[in-house]
Amino acid sequence: MTREAGFAPGAPAQSGTIPLAVPTLGGREWEYVKEALDTNWVSSVGPFVDRFEREVAAALGSPHAVAVTSGTAALHLALLLAGVRPGDEILMPTLTFAAPAFAAAYAGAAPVFVDVEPTYWQIDCEKLAEFLERECRPEGGAVVDRHTGRRIAAIVPVHVLGHPVDVDALLEIASRYGIPVVEDAAESMGAEYRGRAPGTFGLLGCLSFNGNKVLTTGGGGMILTADAELAERGRYLSTQAKDDPLEYVHGEIGFNYRLSNVLAAIGCAQLESLEQHVGARRRVASAYRVGLEEVQGVTTMREAPWAKSAYWLYTILVDPDRFGADSRELLRRLARQGVQTRPLWQPLHESRAFPGARAYRCEVASGIHARALSLPSSSSLSETDQERVIAAVAREARA
Ligand SMILES: *Cc1c(COP(=O)(O)O)cnc(C)c1O
Repeated sequence: MTREAGFAPGAPAQSGTIPLAVPTLGGREWEYVKEALDTNWVSSVGPFVDRFEREVAAALGSPHAVAVTSGTAALHLALLLAGVRPGDEILMPTLTFAAPAFAAAYAGAAPVFVDVEPTYWQIDCEKLAEFLERECRPEGGAVVDRHTGRRIAAIVPVHVLGHPVDVDALLEIASRYGIPVVEDAAESMGAEYRGRAPGTFGLLGCLSFNGNKVLTTGGGGMILTADAELAERGRYLSTQAKDDPLEYVHGEIGFNYRLSNVLAAIGCAQLESLEQHVGARRRVASAYRVGLEEVQGVTTMREAPWAKSAYWLYTILVDPDRFGADSRELLRRLARQGVQTRPLWQPLHESRAFPGARAYRCEVASGIHARALSLPSSSSLSETDQERVIAAVAREARA
């Protein structure tokens, strides 16, 4: 098999079922991995790690980037870099993959879950502001939760499903209260908020290159920041906080979080096709919108006027009364038609992993969770398969 440079969607679906999301490895991945192995740079130091950082930083317009082993590791380190300490509280949306809440727990902090807004399903900035206004008070230069007495140490907006949050509103609130922002841009590589990349607005931003994300390294993540010292410290902490290259002397507790050169090689190749990946996802999204918006009981995804979504997972809402089946029943019926779909994540304020966690006015998220279904969204999804998905959904709708 020859592998040519450029964008040649591969990854065939297994046995006729259209998968939810598969990576598209159609470029120079093989060539670069071979180069990493041939030159014996296989570990967490090497030319591809440096190059991947440089190129991601340039592509997204971030002054600095630090490559790490996963998006979750990026979030953990970013929270530490933002000054989060044990006993603090961290504000984040309740409707998200759980990684930002796990990262808060790793840092010894407690997540506080805020509701999402009903239109784009992102953190509700009005409720966020209301929480800070009504439930918190200033104390010794910090903002403290009145009920728990804990310091609010960071806000972690998640650009959910590849659609940017209302960044200006969020930054205004954060700066009014002097709270650092750590963006979770794991799902929004290639998206834009008023022309700029999510992950470049906060003090720190985090990316993921997990297998199902817009770009993949197999597993990996990145911390973005405009602050050279934070980037330097991020690199230090991610490589076991070694103070001396010869003597094993550690200045503080370090982490083994550095991305390997082999995986960074895959990332460099993936990055060359970022625009094609996002362009392909946007074409899939547009086909779904056109094909499904007339189906009764189906709500298609919306894109805010200030947003360019990366459409990480194209998600519809299913109204059981009007559609004739609920989202989980539709999931089972689509599976029988050879179409793999998935619900969104359980809202974190309902999660057993965070018993008794603080939640603020989580009124909207559970309704979205009940009705949501993510459709096959790979950037390699062919037009024929897009049509198959649309026809399969339409067939199940009440006539
Ligand atoms: C995937 C994801 C992460 C974590 O990324 P990993 O690389 O899988 O650790 C973090 N946050 C969100 C919102 C994600 O979707």
